[in-house]
Amino acid sequence: MAERYIYQEEPHDSESEEIHHNCAIVGAYSNGSSSNGETLSRSVLNGLVALNHRGQEGAGILLANEDAFAIEKDNGLAEIVFTAKRSLPKLLNASVCLGQDRYSTSGTDFDTQPFVDQGIACAHNGNLTNISWLREEYNLPSVIDGVESDTRAALAVINRMPGSERDRILEGIKRLEGAYSMVFATTGEDPSLFASRDPLGFRPLSLGRFKDGSGFTVASEDVAFGPMNSEFVRDILPGETVMINGDGVTTIAMDNREALAQCIFELIYISRPDSTIFGTSVYEFRSREGEILGRHLPEGAEVVMPVPRSGIAAAQGVANSEGFRERIRSFTEDKGILYQDGIYTNPYININKGSRTFIQPNQRQEAARSKYSVNQAIVEGKSVVIVDDSIVRGSIAEVVKKLREAGAREVHALIASPELKHACYMGVDFGKGELIANKIPDIDDRATSLGLDSLYHMSYSEIIEAAIGNKVEESVVGDIFRRNDFCGACFTGEYPLDITGVIPRTNKNEK
Ligand code: SF4
Repeated sequence: MAERYIYQEEPHDSESEEIHHNCAIVGAYSNGSSSNGETLSRSVLNGLVALNHRGQEGAGILLANEDAFAIEKDNGLAEIVFTAKRSLPKLLNASVCLGQDRYSTSGTDFDTQPFVDQGIACAHNGNLTNISWLREEYNLPSVIDGVESDTRAALAVINRMPGSERDRILEGIKRLEGAYSMVFATTGEDPSLFASRDPLGFRPLSLGRFKDGSGFTVASEDVAFGPMNSEFVRDILPGETVMINGDGVTTIAMDNREALAQCIFELIYISRPDSTIFGTSVYEFRSREGEILGRHLPEGAEVVMPVPRSGIAAAQGVANSEGFRERIRSFTEDKGILYQDGIYTNPYININKGSRTFIQPNQRQEAARSKYSVNQAIVEGKSVVIVDDSIVRGSIAEVVKKLREAGAREVHALIASPELKHACYMGVDFGKGELIANKIPDIDDRATSLGLDSLYHMSYSEIIEAAIGNKVEESVVGDIFRRNDFCGACFTGEYPLDITGVIPRTNKNEK
């Protein structure tokens, strides 16, 4: 067996504290599509627009009928791609449609999906941990059809399997390791949509149904279903592959594992607050995080505020916490605590590229400076508590500086996640070296360097409490995540799958 490794990968430039993750996928099957497939592709576009928070680099839509595929894709936000750059694909009697919003953790601008090879089209959300081994095992070139993407290589592996398109998909998927939610389209007598989720369930994937009863939809998050004129049916289960065609929805494979590794960062940051993933409302999870953080309000705190927008739900949770309610004051009193929005973000910064944007590392501080402004009337002379979802590289320091400049007497931070200390190899784009918790391991030193009077991160047990809704025994042991069917490897360093031989990627910022 060839040695397993992940090739060294340059991370993409990313804005300040933005954490990038790879892609949203959408699929649809309809037996009532308009004759040229336009209704179907418009529905998938609506789903892609709803999921644009998962990827803004490129967008692609593919249609399939009995004989052929039609595909359109380009760089940019989905809505811009399909209004300013490209027409929606059209195909006579199309019944299957796939779409992808792309953010890449590897590859080039040509790598927007879906990809097509030998009668199978696919789109992928996640990151495969054995792709380099697969490339060697199946003697695959690093560039296939002009594309470097791991997903294109995975599709080539699938097509090395024998049999029909369905057989190849089922056999090929068994060879993939890592995090993947995937959708496939096939042509033939009964064109079919396939949806598959890796056995550990890292990334979410849900099944919906068109409200007119004409077919089914699949999407990375259920918030895509409303704009697609469909409704949530159920999650695709970890390890499950479904086939959707004229016979309806059929589970054609199921790989059950003892414990799951659902990415807890999907709940903390990645997914939309109005989504329900892994059976949990993302907003309620973040709100519960805030209620737990409320136990750690510093003495004498006078104002609690979110770092917008990522800290809003958790900050509202703090304002609902017992700790906050015990200390609440009215506007006329001069003692106690208030919840106020004291930090404003300019929504027009980088509007042409979307709110989650790629910029040069040396522009990060400048971006953070122009992105945030502070309301002096709210913070002047006050002990302020800011609430955010996580600290990655430490550009929260710019917010703290602005609060100080506006006259805040003290600035404390409550962070709705444990300290981020380890790289993710399962599809979230931060490298170990760029994390401030590694650069400044002592939390008090880190607080000082960020300009904070105090800094609190949720413990492992607290984040699990927020996820499952029940208090759990205090734990400093990383396997508390696995015991509760989550991955928390970026906090604990305990990876839920074999990453032996994985070479940490280089980091431009470390050079
Ligand atoms: Fe999610 Fe962190 Fe696990 Fe990556 S390492 S899958 S970001 S929990």
